[in-house]
Amino acid sequence: MTNPFDLTGKVAIVTGANTGIGQAIAVALATAGADIAAVGRSACDETLALVEGVGRKAIFLRADLGTIAPVAGLVADTVAQLGRLDILVNNAGIIRRNDAVDFTEEDWDAVIDTNLKSTFFLCQAAGRHMIAAGSGRIINIASMLSFQGGIRVPSYTASKSGVAGLTKLLANEWAAKGVTVNAIAPGYVATNNTAALQADEARNKSILDRIPAGRWADPADMGGAAVFLASRAADYVNGHILAVDGGWLAR
Ligand code: NAP
Repeated sequence: MTNPFDLTGKVAIVTGANTGIGQAIAVALATAGADIAAVGRSACDETLALVEGVGRKAIFLRADLGTIAPVAGLVADTVAQLGRLDILVNNAGIIRRNDAVDFTEEDWDAVIDTNLKSTFFLCQAAGRHMIAAGSGRIINIASMLSFQGGIRVPSYTASKSGVAGLTKLLANEWAAKGVTVNAIAPGYVATNNTAALQADEARNKSILDRIPAGRWADPADMGGAAVFLASRAADYVNGHILAVDGGWLAR
């Protein structure tokens, strides 16, 4: 029997692929056989080298996803340079922290535009291509704050709750067209995004005390879930928000 997790011959776009979770997912998909279009506003040299190191093709597409201007071009450029598009991972995201009573319109718009608006329009652009091809895989990156309220991160919570809803809506519309849409909800992962929490001794301890696994996630912990959702093994998985959280939500 062939390996149901094999991604040989597939092409994936991964946004925010220069670091953290995006880099780890790009490397995991490549290790499973996919070629990678690494998208971001910062150069992805390290990621390209890691992907090429496991024998896959890698290209960098520069795009600032704070607006939707680059979105249509990303799908076209990926198909032009890598020949096809099978998998989209919407990973690029930002967070802004402030008390709700002091939260600014700028901090609201920046987070919603990057985490939610660009995610939707990139799903739309990739979805059009995948529907025409009769198959495709979209994986959005949600959060524990797709399930919980959080604190001092109103636009982030709104964006990630929105990502969860959007994932289900798109799954409903596209499941019968051969396109699955799911999300990974990472728990607390040691990346730039959580540097402030890791550095705050009290918050760090309270977070660790609640994680049954007893440690922060490494970005690589997200790789297996991404390979699964991108693979034939997940053919009948639609609209699921897969928590990869060391047990955080179970507590
Ligand atoms: P990270 O290390 O800060 O990575 C975020 C990525 O998004 C970087 O590649 C960043 O590029 C890119 N990005 C941000 N704004 C962008 C823009 N306007 N245009 C293009 N790319 C942009 O954080 P991470 O933890 O790996 O986050 C990845 C995703 O996981 C995010 O959606 C985040 O919300 C989500 N998440 C993280 C955690 C966690 O605990 N770390 C938990 C749940 C969900 P630059 O390097 O150029 O800024």
